[in-house]
Amino acid sequence: MRSPAIASGKISRMRILISNDDGYLAPGINALAEALAPIAEIVVVAPDSNRSGASNSLSLDRPLSVQRAANGFYFVNGTPSDCVHVALTAILDTKPDLVVSGINNGPNMGDDTLYSGTVAAATEGFLFGIPAIAFSQGTYGWEHIDAAARHARDLIQRYYEALPRPCLWNVNIPNRPYEQLNAVVATRLGRRHQSEPVIKAKDPRGKDIYWIGPPGACKDAGEGTDFHAVAAGQTSITPLQIDLTHTSQLSALAKALA
Ligand code: MN
Repeated sequence: MRSPAIASGKISRMRILISNDDGYLAPGINALAEALAPIAEIVVVAPDSNRSGASNSLSLDRPLSVQRAANGFYFVNGTPSDCVHVALTAILDTKPDLVVSGINNGPNMGDDTLYSGTVAAATEGFLFGIPAIAFSQGTYGWEHIDAAARHARDLIQRYYEALPRPCLWNVNIPNRPYEQLNAVVATRLGRRHQSEPVIKAKDPRGKDIYWIGPPGACKDAGEGTDFHAVAAGQTSITPLQIDLTHTSQLSALAKALA
C-alpha cells in the first residue's frame, strides 16, 4: 500500500478507521472523528453501547448487524474487536492507513491495558498489519475532550510517517486544556496491585449478586512508566506488543520437561 502523501503539512488522502469501547454515541469518539476529518478520510465503526472492559473478545455465538447513524457512523451490536474485524473484512473496500481507538473516558495504563476494549480495538487493527493507536484520557470526565482530540491529531500528523509498520501505540493524554498539552514521553506500562474484591449486594429477590470492584492501586508507578508520565501532566506513549511468551522462563521450562 502506498503511503499517503504529505502536502502542505496536511496528510492528504490518508484513510483512518476509528473505533472505541465507549460506544458510537460517546463524546470521545465524536471529538476524535471531528478532529481527524480535516486531515483524513474517516470511517467510524463502533459498538452500539458501552463495552468498556470487553478486552479482545469476539462474538462467536451470534451474528453481528451493522447499522448506520444519521451522522454516518456505523454501529455494531458487538465488541470493539468485532467492530474493527467487521470493518476491515466487510465494510471497508481497502485497508485503512491507520486504525485509531478512543478517545476513552478514563485511563488505560499498566495492567488495565489487558482488559481495555479501547486498546483491543487498536489491537485488532494491529493484528491485521495496520498501524494502530489507542487514545485514552488520563482521568475520567469529558471537560477537555476537544483538547485531547486536537492533541491526538497533532500526534498523528507529527509521527505517522515515522511509525514502525506495524505498530501498536497506547496513548494516555492528561485531561487538561490544549495549551497545557506540551510534553510527550515514551513510557513502559506500569503495574497495579491486584484488583479490589467484588462488591456484594442483593438483587430485588434477595439473591446474592456481585459487581466487579475497582482496579488495584498503582504498584509500579515509577519514573519511566505511563502512570508516572500522566501524573506529571505528560502525554504517555507506550509501544505495545502482543506476544505474551515469558521468554526468560522458556529455557528453564524446556529443561524441566526434557
Ligand atoms: Mn471505555
